[in-house]
Amino acid sequence: MRMYDIIEKKRTGSELTLEEIRFFVNEYTMGKVPDAQAAALLMAICCNGMTMRETTDLTQAMEHSGDVLDLSRIDGPTADKHSTGGVGDKTTLIVAPTAAALGCKVAKMSGRGLGHTGGTLDKLESIPGLICELPEDLFIQQVNTIGLSIIGQTGRLTPADGKLYVLRDETATVMSKPLIASSIMSKKLAAGCQNIVLDVKYGSGAFMKTKEDAEDLAKIMVEIGTNAGRNMTAVISNMEEPLGYNVGNSLEVIEAIKVLNGEGPEDLFELSTVLAGLMYSSCFDVPFEESRRLAEEAIRSGKAKDKFREMVRAQRGDASLIDHPECFETSRFTQVIRASKAGYISKMDTEAIGLTSSMLGAGRETKDENVEYTAGIQILKKTGDKVEVGDTLAVLRTRRERSLHDAEEKYLSALTFSEEKPEKEPLIYKIIH
Ligand code: URA
Repeated sequence: MRMYDIIEKKRTGSELTLEEIRFFVNEYTMGKVPDAQAAALLMAICCNGMTMRETTDLTQAMEHSGDVLDLSRIDGPTADKHSTGGVGDKTTLIVAPTAAALGCKVAKMSGRGLGHTGGTLDKLESIPGLICELPEDLFIQQVNTIGLSIIGQTGRLTPADGKLYVLRDETATVMSKPLIASSIMSKKLAAGCQNIVLDVKYGSGAFMKTKEDAEDLAKIMVEIGTNAGRNMTAVISNMEEPLGYNVGNSLEVIEAIKVLNGEGPEDLFELSTVLAGLMYSSCFDVPFEESRRLAEEAIRSGKAKDKFREMVRAQRGDASLIDHPECFETSRFTQVIRASKAGYISKMDTEAIGLTSSMLGAGRETKDENVEYTAGIQILKKTGDKVEVGDTLAVLRTRRERSLHDAEEKYLSALTFSEEKPEKEPLIYKIIH
């Protein structure tokens, strides 16, 4: 078999066989296919697409390119949740302990932020002392004892995705539904959970800009997971504005704790209880409305917060911060952004807001950069809010004083104003089973 022929076949719009897909994934993972050929094939896939069968084969080849986790030693129904990436999306910090408080065994591997989107690992590691690198045995033991662990993905899981993702990032081939679906689902399948809830975002802060594209992507991922024997659910949710009011690692942990105290913003509470409810519903075959009510109850009773504290303690983080979030360290420099005109905020370019947060130090442009845990944005006005001249729109926080000027400009460029109050779309567009 020759890579040249495989590339030509896809370039001319033909369907690749299972053997050809496996050949590409295995040889590329072993370093036997040069980046130039892999990039050419990725571009051909990007332009000509893949059938559902090809996408499933690609996912399974990537899943088996390294280790797969065996979670059979976990006693109880295992559950995982994955977001396709957004701005201010700290739902995992709420959803995982809530589902665990209800009896799901949440064995979750999370990633770091890249580009304009944040990552759960960076958020968790903003809690001093907290460790996200656990050996597999300890991970399983922790899930068995407290029902919950969130760790980083080990290098031995889906190495094909690790290599391909970097190449896609460099060759403008990230935006392809079969490539996104296979990238996400190969990791979810290799991570081993039986019940998987996906949060597929659409809008200005998401990979998928329209609801229709997000729904297409969700259906592909649900079908891949179902064919692999997993219980799949996908929520299509709105990322036309940041979720909640805080963007940036420790700022997001503080806001998640607020929700766990029953005091957090409505959008974050709504999405978190829907996702946790779906995890419970999938694990225990309980109707969704009942599951969601139980998820709300787990938060209001403080049980979800107790679980979060237990997890932080088990992973050696400073658990006192969960009860005293006011003691989190803060950034030295702040800048208040004020409105220079009156009106309603009619639109937020959420990707630009994510990039503003990155400029302040909260995110990274390349994989190897360090993030500044205390940097970020506290948003005071969101879409639909009325603004008078001089009102505070947001507060920027950073240790890099020199970034404040450009960050303020970037943030202001993300806002559109109107004289009329805009219509707001619902947070949740659809749930796909
Ligand atoms: N997240 C992933 O893990 N992979 C993608 O391709 C896109 C988002």
